[in-house]
Amino acid sequence: MPELPEVETVCQALRPVLEGQSFLSIQLNRSNLRYPFPSNLEKELASHPIISVRRRAKYLLIDFKNNLTLIWHLGMSGRVIIENVNALFLKPSPHDHVVFITSHHYKITYRDPRRFGFLLLSPTQELEDLRPFNTLGPEPLDNSKINASSFHNRIKSRSTSLKSTLLDQAVIAGIGNIYASEALWQAWLSPLRPANTLILNEAGILLREIQNVLNCAIAAGGSTLRDHFRPNGDRGYFQHQFKVYNQENKLCSHCNFFPILKLIQNGRSTYYCNHCQK
Ligand SMILES: [Zn+2]
Repeated sequence: MPELPEVETVCQALRPVLEGQSFLSIQLNRSNLRYPFPSNLEKELASHPIISVRRRAKYLLIDFKNNLTLIWHLGMSGRVIIENVNALFLKPSPHDHVVFITSHHYKITYRDPRRFGFLLLSPTQELEDLRPFNTLGPEPLDNSKINASSFHNRIKSRSTSLKSTLLDQAVIAGIGNIYASEALWQAWLSPLRPANTLILNEAGILLREIQNVLNCAIAAGGSTLRDHFRPNGDRGYFQHQFKVYNQENKLCSHCNFFPILKLIQNGRSTYYCNHCQK
């Protein structure tokens, strides 16, 4: 599933292609994905200049000069392919659900075999009042929105486990199952520990390691697991650097002695070293 680093990778790839340009056409090859496509999508957006391409949590946001924002979620298996129309490199697939053609001859294809992704449209000014944007916590990588002290304040009244707390999008936005496990291992903190037992210094270490794992993954182009591809068609490669995620029974590389354990917390897999993480 595309997590924050994958969406950021797509965002960084789309930004130079789209900003200042517009869509000539938007072709929908079916009527819905997770939700029905907005009616009149092409009529509302085509030929209107694109002001900015940005990310909030795991949502891509494309702002248009006519005060509309396209909200784009990549679901479980969404892949964005950017090609020059004069140099197409990927064969079309039955899973190509949306095709955007830009004013400067780029073809942007949204391919999503499992169809959990979606496109929605909102007036830009009303976005912050819409669910889930009105409940999202701060961006973990935006130092103007979060620091050790404010992060500690957000978690210190929570009696839920650290792992569940990190997955709560109202506490901090965009952290999914993979990077929660990785960050907790890097911070030597147990995923089982109640969040309200962390002292300020530990919260600061955890925030720093969240930022480290996310930044490493973004630098590596986002991880892929099974389904995700980078927008240029390559596979990302951060999965080779996972220290605990999907590493059950391999030796923990903190202690080089105990195996990584797997447990199920709230229906999600958690990977950790019972010896190193306290
Ligand atoms: Zn260990």
